[in-house]
Amino acid sequence: MTELRLEGVSKRYGTGRDDGAAALQDVDLTVRDGEFFTLVGPSGCGKTTTLRTIAGFEAPSKGVVSFDGESMIGVAPERRDVGVVFQSYGLFPHMTVAENVGYGLQFREPPDGTGVDERVDELLELVDLEGMGGRNPDQLSGGQQQRVALARALAPEPDLLLLDEPMSALDARLRESLRRQLKRIQSTLEITTVYVTHDQDEALALSDRLAVMNDGEIEQIATPRTIYHEPETRFVAEFVGDNNVFDGTVRARDAERTRVDVAGTTFDLPPGVGFDGSAQEQERERISFCVRPADLSRAVDQNRFAVNLETSEFRGESVRAYGQWNDVPIVLQLGEVLESEKDATVTVGFAPEDAHVLNGG
Ligand code: ADP
Ligand code: MG
Repeated sequence: MTELRLEGVSKRYGTGRDDGAAALQDVDLTVRDGEFFTLVGPSGCGKTTTLRTIAGFEAPSKGVVSFDGESMIGVAPERRDVGVVFQSYGLFPHMTVAENVGYGLQFREPPDGTGVDERVDELLELVDLEGMGGRNPDQLSGGQQQRVALARALAPEPDLLLLDEPMSALDARLRESLRRQLKRIQSTLEITTVYVTHDQDEALALSDRLAVMNDGEIEQIATPRTIYHEPETRFVAEFVGDNNVFDGTVRARDAERTRVDVAGTTFDLPPGVGFDGSAQEQERERISFCVRPADLSRAVDQNRFAVNLETSEFRGESVRAYGQWNDVPIVLQLGEVLESEKDATVTVGFAPEDAHVLNGG
C-alpha cells in the first residue's frame, strides 16, 4: 500500500564549483500503489540516480521524495522499507541460499508472526527455487542467483521494490523467462515496483507505465501502448522501437486533411494536427511526424514515396529493410524483399492516420 511521489527532484553530484550538468533535473513522477513502473533511457540519463534517491542512498539537491504522502527527506535507507535488487546480485558468498534470503529478517521480523525458516521457504517457492536453500550461491546459475537476490529483497515485505537493471548480466533467452517470472511475482504480491532498464523491449513488456528519460529529465510518462503509438517527442519516437521521423512544413489545412511538404513531396496528414494555437498563421508552420515501419506498406496508395534500399535483415516473421529517402533514414518492415528491389527502390505509402505528430519539432 504505497504510492511513491517525486516532486521537482534535481540532483547535482560532486563537490566543486561549476561541474557541469545536473544528473537529474526537475523530475516529477507518481508511481501508484501496486504499479509496475519502469524508468527507461540510455546509459547516463539518470536512471540509477533516480532509484538511489528513492532508496535513500542519495539525497536530492532539490525536491521531495515521498511515500504515501510522507516526505522521506532525511530518512535513512534502512528506515524506508524498500527492497532493492541490483545488476550484480550481491549475494553473500559465504552464506547458503536460505541464509541469504533470510538475511533481512534479522533486522525485521517476518510478517504475521511467521517463523524465519517458514518465510524463507515461502520466498524460495515464490521464485521457483524450492529445495535449493542449502546450496551456496556459486552452485547456482546467473538467473537463479538473481532470483535469490529478488527473494532476499522481498523477504521483509518491503513497501516498495526497486530493481536496477537486474537482468543485464543474463543472456537474452534467460532474460525473457525471468521477466515473465518477475511480472508474475510482482502482480501476485501487488507490490509497488520501480524497475530500471536501458532495454526498451523489456520496458514495454513489463510495465504498467513507464517514464522515458533523457539527459536527467523525463521526456514522457505513459503506458507502453501510448509510448509506442503516441510518442510526444522525437527522442521518445526514436528511442522506443524503430521509427521513421519526417520534418516538414505545413502547406495547407482543411476539414479533411493537413498537407505537409517534406523535401518537395506533399503528404496528407489528418486534419488539425500540429496546430498549437500559438502561431496566428499556420501556413509556414514546421511540423515533425513519425510513421512506424509496420505502417509503411507497398499496398497503401496514399502518401507514397520511393525508398532507396541499402540493407535488409531477415527477422523470421518479417524482413527489416533499411534505406534512404531524400536523406531521411527509412526503416521498413516487409514480408519479403524482392530480388528486383535489392540495391534498388521500393515504393511504399502510409495512411494519414498512421502518422503521429511530435511536439517540439
Ligand atoms: P544511468 O543509470 O541512467 O546510466 P546514472 O544515474 O548512473 O545514469 O548517471 C547519471 C549522470 O550522473 C551521469 O552523467 C553520471 O556520469 C553521473 N553520475 C552518476 N553517479 C555519479 C557520482 N557518484 N558522482 C558523480 N557523477 C555521477
Ligand atoms: Mg544505471
